[in-house]
Amino acid sequence: MNIHEYQGKSLLRAYNVDIQEGFVAETPDQAVMVAGQLREKFGSEFFVVKAQIHAGGRGKGGGVKLARSIEEAGGITSKMLGMQLVTPQTGAAGKRVNKVLIARDVYYKGDSEIREFYVSILLNRNKGRYTVMYSPDGGMSIEEVAEKTPDRIFTEEIDPAVGLQPFQCRNIAFNLGLSGTAFKNMIRFLNGIYDTFTGCDAQLLEINPVLRTSDDRILAVDCKFVLD
Ligand code: ADP
Ligand code: MG
Repeated sequence: MNIHEYQGKSLLRAYNVDIQEGFVAETPDQAVMVAGQLREKFGSEFFVVKAQIHAGGRGKGGGVKLARSIEEAGGITSKMLGMQLVTPQTGAAGKRVNKVLIARDVYYKGDSEIREFYVSILLNRNKGRYTVMYSPDGGMSIEEVAEKTPDRIFTEEIDPAVGLQPFQCRNIAFNLGLSGTAFKNMIRFLNGIYDTFTGCDAQLLEINPVLRTSDDRILAVDCKFVLD
């Protein structure tokens, strides 16, 4: 079973994983209202309007758009709702957008370099073991990374008897090039997504991008779950 991004994010939040916060809207008026709430709660200057469909590649297909004001969040929503969104993963007919997620902008400028990582947990069928697959080169071109620079994709295999180990989390954070606060936050993030994955009996949990914000937070900006 596939669930939407906003549903996956609420599962992550229930396990104390930091996410790019947002609210669902089914009308432009709702979009304006929740954008106002995001501004009040988080001081968000900008917002991201994200089509909720059961397919990835939305960014490439025009299903993820930045709104520079509350009004623009409403305007983008009115264009996005009802459209047949075509992405590299939908096929030519596309998928109808019935809901959007209005999320806070988390790419704000600050002291640290903003970085996008790829992290997933999945079953390695050859070995019958869960595996963390990750890359320092996350974002919209991850398929290209896998094809052209497969050495930039790392794995950490999980021993079912002991689960995800602290040394493995440190290894992952190190290979992602992190240090200091971001390193510590990544370790907490990895434990949180592993708890979510096992707690929900998931078959796949893919977070792309995992964001290192300019103030060293580690957040799930997107998520894809496959549940039993
Ligand atoms: P998909 O994987 O379906 O394309 P994502 O949620 O991963 O959808 O979003 C696609 C891209 O949009 C991300 O890789 C990121 O670069 C960009 N993006 C998402 N949120 C923001 C934001 N708040 N500000 C700027 N860019 C964003
Ligand atoms: Mg994504």
